[in-house]
Amino acid sequence: MSEGEEARHWQERSSLLTPIAKSFGTDVGVDAASMGIQVHGGMGFIEETGAARYLRDARIAPIYEGTNGIQAIDLVTRKLPLSEGGHVRSFIAELKAIAQEVGSSNLADFGETGSRLDDAIADLEETTEWLLARLVEGKSAEALAGATAYQRLFGLTLTGVYLAKGGLAEAGDGGRDVRIALCRFAAENLLSETAALKNSIVTGAASLASARIALA
Ligand SMILES: Cc1cc2nc3c(=O)[nH]c(=O)nc-3n(C[C@H](O)[C@H](O)[C@H](O)COP(=O)(O)OP(=O)(O)OC[C@H]3O[C@@H](n4cnc5c(N)ncnc54)[C@H](O)[C@@H]3O)c2cc1C
Repeated sequence: MSEGEEARHWQERSSLLTPIAKSFGTDVGVDAASMGIQVHGGMGFIEETGAARYLRDARIAPIYEGTNGIQAIDLVTRKLPLSEGGHVRSFIAELKAIAQEVGSSNLADFGETGSRLDDAIADLEETTEWLLARLVEGKSAEALAGATAYQRLFGLTLTGVYLAKGGLAEAGDGGRDVRIALCRFAAENLLSETAALKNSIVTGAASLASARIALA
């Protein structure tokens, strides 16, 4: 890779990941702050304990610096088409290689992580190709209908894959298996959502368009 090609590669990588990092991190922040109230019950809800303030403060993050809905539009219409889809495809290939490494690691503590990562990455790949095909056909409304769901699917998949990468590094270091436990929890409890998100991305556009009648 020449110096110019390498610069372009990393420019495209940061462009692709920016909307996902911004939206997924801020959405999860709101979920975590809300759960912070829930675990403290009624004491969490009242102002005096301070937990409600965390939620109110966290709630602005999905809105400013570009709302997360606008980030999703950016991800689908400007970032997926980079290098005619070549960049996102090569990134997905990198994710597959990490999942394969988990699968062949034979570490029992990973549990079902390898196969759950394979499933999530397959959902990511299928929806990416579906969205790219809609854009090529000029059916951008169909692609945009699933943009927010796709952004979440991408964020969830990266959560699983990068926690697994951390787990692999920890196994190599002979650490305490904390990262492996975390990545197994994410893989076996959170990643099943990608299948539902895939379904709404590839089948949800028509019903979204027809539901507009309810707003008239
Ligand atoms: C506390 C606070 C601090 C701020 N600080 C700054 C600052 O320091 N500097 C600065 O420049 N700005 C700042 N802002 C402004 C912030 O950037 C905007 O609030 C933000 O960009 C969203 O714009 P908006 O409020 O006009 O919402 P709108 O653009 O009206 O969006 C409303 C909703 O509609 C959706 N939407 C909008 N357009 C579309 C579309 N084309 N298709 C589909 N959905 C759409 C959005 O996703 C959102 O959910 C701040 C805002 C707040 C509340």
